[in-house]
Amino acid sequence: MNLNTVTEVKQPLSAYEIAEWRDGYAWLAGGTWLYSTPQVDTHTLIDLQSLRWPALQVTAGGLDIAATCTLAELAHFTAPATWKAAPLFKMCCDSLLASFKVWNAATVGGNICMSLPAGSMISLTASLEATYTLWPRDAEPRKVAAVDFVTGNHANVLKRGELLRSIHLPARSLSKRFAFRRASLTHLGRSAIIVIGTQSPGTDDLVLTVTAATVKPFQLRFDRVPEAQTLREAIFSTIPEADYFNDVHGSALYKRHLTYYFSEQIRAELLSGAEA
Ligand SMILES: Cc1cc2nc3c(=O)[nH]c(=O)nc-3n(C[C@H](O)[C@H](O)[C@H](O)COP(=O)(O)OP(=O)(O)OC[C@H]3O[C@@H](n4cnc5c(N)ncnc54)[C@H](O)[C@@H]3O)c2cc1C
Repeated sequence: MNLNTVTEVKQPLSAYEIAEWRDGYAWLAGGTWLYSTPQVDTHTLIDLQSLRWPALQVTAGGLDIAATCTLAELAHFTAPATWKAAPLFKMCCDSLLASFKVWNAATVGGNICMSLPAGSMISLTASLEATYTLWPRDAEPRKVAAVDFVTGNHANVLKRGELLRSIHLPARSLSKRFAFRRASLTHLGRSAIIVIGTQSPGTDDLVLTVTAATVKPFQLRFDRVPEAQTLREAIFSTIPEADYFNDVHGSALYKRHLTYYFSEQIRAELLSGAEA
């Protein structure tokens, strides 16, 4: 849609060119959400693609994903063979309601900053214990754990004008094996729930991350795969009833039920394959 309140599009070569943040400014990533609905309070878009950040960089420590990396670039990334969790990239890219056009334009950072419960880049990066680098306008860069970034439906820790610069996925997490469960009420529709379990090589630990069913990500960590009842009790004490997300893509009760159901499946799957 045409944004007829927008009178200027800035194309900076460096984020430092935007030293002062003004009311009416908005970062423009893929524009798939920004152009989908009127933005009556926005008069200036600041195009992040002009910063030309490299989309994906493999380092000894893992993978650095620029906020401007598109879902298509991430889905097509060829990972080192030792990164057993890499299939999650495509599985999570496939887990949002998106046309071919959206897939090629929407960015990892835009999806995270939208902070929808069903934000599948949030599911991916929280489950792989990512760290986000944030660039405030008037302070030094800061880092925040992915699991702590989203604070509620369409709400996050970003301060006024603050930019999500990049996402670091540690090699330690990328080398884990994983189990994935997702449900959606509609074929190719928005996720009602995504649960991802990961397990370190040579151990029987478990990190379980629940997203989409809840207004923000919840993560449970165990040194060893727990008994079924222990897992149920941990979910009960970790996820408040009020934080199950009720919307047209599924009632809170339905999502709560699936949280327990899928978590148990993941527990059993990772228990059965646990290495001695
Ligand atoms: C019809 C429709 C259905 C959708 N269904 C789903 C779904 O099922 N699951 C799902 O996850 N998402 C869904 N989305 C939202 C989708 O996640 C977004 O459209 C897309 O991921 C946003 O990415 P983008 O790069 O296009 O961001 P943009 O549209 O460019 O920006 C989105 C928002 O994030 C801000 N922003 C972008 N990048 C940054 C950054 N680096 N730092 C700070 N702020 C930033 C922008 O200012 C804007 O407020 C849907 C959207 C639409 C329109």
